[in-house]
Amino acid sequence: MAPWYSLAGRVALVTGASRGLGAATAAALAEAGAAVGCAARTVDGVEATAKGIRERGGRAHAVALDVTRADQVAATVRAVEQALGPVDILVNNAGITLEKKTVDVTDAEWERVLTTNLTSMFRLARAVAPGMLERRRGKIINVGSMYGVIGVARYAAYCASKAGVDGLTRSLAVEWARHGVQVNCVAPGYVNTEISRPALADPRTRELFLSKIPARRIGEPEDVGPLVVYLASPASDHMTGQTLYLDGGQTIAW
Ligand code: NDP
Repeated sequence: MAPWYSLAGRVALVTGASRGLGAATAAALAEAGAAVGCAARTVDGVEATAKGIRERGGRAHAVALDVTRADQVAATVRAVEQALGPVDILVNNAGITLEKKTVDVTDAEWERVLTTNLTSMFRLARAVAPGMLERRRGKIINVGSMYGVIGVARYAAYCASKAGVDGLTRSLAVEWARHGVQVNCVAPGYVNTEISRPALADPRTRELFLSKIPARRIGEPEDVGPLVVYLASPASDHMTGQTLYLDGGQTIAW
């Protein structure tokens, strides 16, 4: 592997690592040499992800974390640092969706989506940043969505949260750039995971989605890992504040 893509000696913390994009991304980071803290609510899931990494010769540590619980964030960072060492790479990936007519969305539902998808990313970044700033080295990769830049009916909370992720990314990037910390956002289009499975299970919706994607395929979780590895590696040291769309061309197509 070219040295500028190597993550040997680095420690990553990935939220939402119990399945889907987070599990695939944790595996990809480990493949590039990082030791990986795998965090999510489903203990069996994060343990399976960590076990998979260890079976391939990597280092990994599983932690139970509900990202909506402010009190669990610092403890999670501490647990990963005790097990693996200081966190160099944070992948803020945990997220949920909500499809509902906006007039029927309750305050509690709105807050749950915003807290899970956006506030948690701020809290985790705030928890790992002091160490990164002190060491003058760090990579924060937030998982946004193409829904952060396009308007989708019945997804107001989700679209707002993901647009917020773009704004958070840019602000943190500018604040921390001079201290050697880069903050970027990966914004996938449709990816074959539990979040999108209900919509993709309907053949007409699937055809509609495919017709809007120039590449004519739905993404797989494994499409996301290599881009996160790039953003976590020295290869991207001069890139910060960017949202990179991984969507088969959907957001730029007419
Ligand atoms: P999944 O539903 O497969 O995975 C979501 C992950 O987030 C799970 O690991 C889940 O773990 C975790 N999670 C959810 N809520 C919490 C919580 N409160 N605390 C901790 N972890 C939580 O979906 P994806 O893998 O597709 O989603 C990953 C990210 O990708 C999300 O941010 C999503 O918005 C984004 N994305 C996905 C797209 C897609 O089409 N799939 C498209 C664009 C963006 P657990 O339940 O164990 O806590």
